[in-house]
Amino acid sequence: MSELAIFGGKPAVDEKIIPESLFKWPIVTKEDEEAVLEVLRRGAMSGLDVTEKFEKEFAQWQKRKYAIGYCNGTMALQAAMYACKMGAGDEIICPSKTYWASCLQAFNLNSTVVFADIHPTSLCIDPNDIERCIGPRTKAIMVVHYLGHPADMDPIMEIAKKHNILVIEDVSHAQGGMYKGRMLGTFGHIAAMSIMSGKSLAAGEMGMLATDDKEMYDRAMAYCHYERNNSKYITTEYLQKYASMPLGGVKGRVNQLSSAMARVQLKYYEERTAEIRKAMKYFWSLLEGVPGLRAHMVDESDGSNMAGWYAPHGLYCPEELEGLSVERFCDAVRKEGFGASPGANKALHMHNIFKDYNGLNFEKPARIAFTDRDVRELDKELMVSEQVQVYSIPWFKHYMPEYIEMYANAFKKVALNYKELLAGDEKRGTESGRWFFYSDKKEEK
Ligand SMILES: *Cc1c(COP(=O)(O)O)cnc(C)c1O
Repeated sequence: MSELAIFGGKPAVDEKIIPESLFKWPIVTKEDEEAVLEVLRRGAMSGLDVTEKFEKEFAQWQKRKYAIGYCNGTMALQAAMYACKMGAGDEIICPSKTYWASCLQAFNLNSTVVFADIHPTSLCIDPNDIERCIGPRTKAIMVVHYLGHPADMDPIMEIAKKHNILVIEDVSHAQGGMYKGRMLGTFGHIAAMSIMSGKSLAAGEMGMLATDDKEMYDRAMAYCHYERNNSKYITTEYLQKYASMPLGGVKGRVNQLSSAMARVQLKYYEERTAEIRKAMKYFWSLLEGVPGLRAHMVDESDGSNMAGWYAPHGLYCPEELEGLSVERFCDAVRKEGFGASPGANKALHMHNIFKDYNGLNFEKPARIAFTDRDVRELDKELMVSEQVQVYSIPWFKHYMPEYIEMYANAFKKVALNYKELLAGDEKRGTESGRWFFYSDKKEEK
C-alpha cells in the first residue's frame, strides 16, 4: 500500500492532537475584553476618544507623523488615493496579483487601474515592469507587500522619483514588517492598510492610514470624516471652505469597539509576531531541499522580515515533479491533514469587472470610462501574475516544534512520492486561486 493518505496511507498530521492555539488568531485575552467592554458600557461606540489614542500610538509605532483610523482598509486605501489627488482619468499602477481592495476603489474616483506584473519569487510588484505601465496620466503606484513579503522598495522609489509619481503602500498583509531595517509603510508618500480580523494585526473591522505629509493627511481626513473636517484637524486652506462635509460623500468612521481592541493588539504585536516568525522559519527549514517546494520568504540578513507572515504560501516548481499540477499536489496534502489550497489571489485583470463592467459611464467600460488610452491593452503582458504557482501553507501562531514537524512532513511526503500522483492528474490548468480568502472559517479539507 502507498504511504500517501490519498491512497489509504496514514495521514502525516494527527489532527486530533493539534492544539487549537497553534492556529488561533487573533489572540484575545481578558485585556482585550475589558477594553472593548469599557467602550460598550460607556456607550462610546461612535465616539472618537479611543480612536484618537490609537491613532497616536499607531503613528508612533509606524514612525509616521500622522495616522488616521477608518471603518476598514478599503476606505483607508480609497482615502489614500484621494490624498494623492487622483481624479477623473488618472491612473494608478497596481500589481495584478492582490486582493481587489488594493485598487478597485480607483473607480470611485473616476480613475482607473493599470496592472503591473509581479516578481516570481517575491510575488510583489516587479520594479522592472513599472515603467512599461507609465502613461501621461499616471498619478501613483500602489505597492502591496504581498503575503507579508516586503516589496523591493529601493528601485520602486527611484522610478517614482524619476517620473514624479506618488507611492502608496498597501500594508494590509505586512503590518510591522521590515525592508532593509526600515518599517514597511514608511517608504511611500502615504500608507494604508486593513487591520480586520483576518489580518496579522487584527482589530475587528478597521483600517489605518499613515503619512508625514500634512496636506495628504488633511485630504485623507476630509474625504470621509465629516465630523473631523474642521480647523481642529485640517489646516490646508482650500479645504476649509468645505468643512463639515465628507468630500468623498462617504462615511469612514470606525466603531470604537475595534479601536479599543486595536490598542491592546498593538501592545503585544511585536512579541507575538516574533514567535510566528520563529515557527514559520522552522517549518521551511524542515522542507529545505525537497523537490518542487520553495519558501516564499525574505532574506533576513539585510534587516528585512515578514512580521506576522499573513496568509503564508509556498512557491511551486512543477518542473521538478514531472509537471504534477499544483491542484493535484494540494489534493494530496489535504488528505495528509492540512487544508492546502492552490493559487492565492487570482490575477485581477482576469476578472470581468476590469474588462467590460460599465457602471461609471454607461457608454463605456468603467476601466476606460475617463481615460485617453485603452489601459486594458497593457493586461496582455502579465505572465507571472497569470501563471505563477503557489499553495497555502499552515499559518502557525506558536512555536510548537513537534506539531510543526507533522505539517512539514505532510508536504514532504507528498513531494517525495509525487510519481504516484501523476497518473490521476487532470492538469486543471496553470491559473488557479480565489478572488478573496476566507478568514473566518477553517480551510476546508
Ligand atoms: C484585506 C485587504 C484590504 C482591504 O481591507 P478591508 O479591511 O477588508 O477593507 C486591502 N488590501 C489588501 C491587500 C488586503 O488583503
